Amino acid sequence: MVQRLKAYKFRFTPTAAQRKQLAVEFGCARFVWNRCLDVRSTAWKERQEKQNHVSLGRQVTAWKKTECPWLANATANCLTQSLIDQDKAFKNFFDKRGKYPRFKSKWNKQSVRYQLDQRHIQSTYRSGEYLKLPKLGFIKARWSRIPTGIPKMATVSKDPSGRYFVAFACEEGVEALPLTGVAVGLDLGIKDVVVASDGLKSGNPRHLKKQMRRLKFQQRRLSRMQKGSNRRRKQRQRVATIHAHIAAMRADFLHKTTTALIRRADVLALEDLNVRGMMKNHHLAGALADVGMHEFKRQIGYKADWYGRTVVTVDRFAPTSKTCSHCGRYRETMLLSVREWTCPDCRTHHDRDVNAARNILSFATAGEAGLARGGSLNWLSHRLSTPVEARTEAEKLDEAVRLERAA
Ligand SMILES: [Zn+2]
Repeated sequence: MVQRLKAYKFRFTPTAAQRKQLAVEFGCARFVWNRCLDVRSTAWKERQEKQNHVSLGRQVTAWKKTECPWLANATANCLTQSLIDQDKAFKNFFDKRGKYPRFKSKWNKQSVRYQLDQRHIQSTYRSGEYLKLPKLGFIKARWSRIPTGIPKMATVSKDPSGRYFVAFACEEGVEALPLTGVAVGLDLGIKDVVVASDGLKSGNPRHLKKQMRRLKFQQRRLSRMQKGSNRRRKQRQRVATIHAHIAAMRADFLHKTTTALIRRADVLALEDLNVRGMMKNHHLAGALADVGMHEFKRQIGYKADWYGRTVVTVDRFAPTSKTCSHCGRYRETMLLSVREWTCPDCRTHHDRDVNAARNILSFATAGEAGLARGGSLNWLSHRLSTPVEARTEAEKLDEAVRLERAA
């Protein structure tokens, strides 16, 4: 049994009074974040002095007594949580995991976090349908499912399209799924988000692309509206709603696909693609982001962890589509336009992507030992003499370009 941290997120409709109080909470937390970020940056630049949430918390208390008495209208704990988040953001920056923390804008997603104590939990979903939070009173969420485990924090957020959510993280045990005795290779791409070695093709719903016309139309209207006007504020919300819709559809598709794959196989083989590097090509970033390749790999990773599955990766330069998965013959030239082909040696008829997925599986599971056998050897010598451009990532990009042109 694996312990996992599972997030539960519920939508809720605040009352008018709660909306008002939340606006105060969001505003104060954002103010504290921005002002403390400034204090931190100056302290470091001018005096090489490091600040943390404790020292900054003292300053916030001082501001409450002098220049910003209105900060007292917000829940003190929310302000502290915001400073703790900032500590984490700085730690990520110093450990080279993240960028330098940035100022928060009132136009982006707003959120505050509450530390829950036993009293809150007593009055939450355990006994009824309500969650009680300081200064807000009872919140009626849409409990689409009842969380198990005990949450320590609750995060209340408002997205740019104006929806309110409350989220908990609960630690809970999860049972591994029963073994299936199946191993699959997965070829990630753009025509199909994923093709499995057993022939499954996911298709690519291209949510962003499909909504593009609608999105562009609304964005154009937004750009023509006067800054600071009420109409512009409403239009901004309209654009945000379309974005939220696209994100929700994409998430739904990815979760269903990854869960289905995790259920079907014990071992999942993937290509070790450099998705971030590929995203740097701005002509294709859109098509690639629409696929959600990075998110796909992330979901496969953590779900495998939860359910006791194994993920293996194959070298990103392995010639997965140019090798016959049946006899191992390597073909020097194979145009991307070739979707199906017949091996001249063993006469096996291949679907390009399924063949690639089969190779990913055999390369990943056999490892280097497998490569030393028979036909696979010639790609190894070939690899040393081919420029990097000729490799898998370039191929994925080519595929994206072709699809963009065709569309
Ligand atoms: Zn063959």
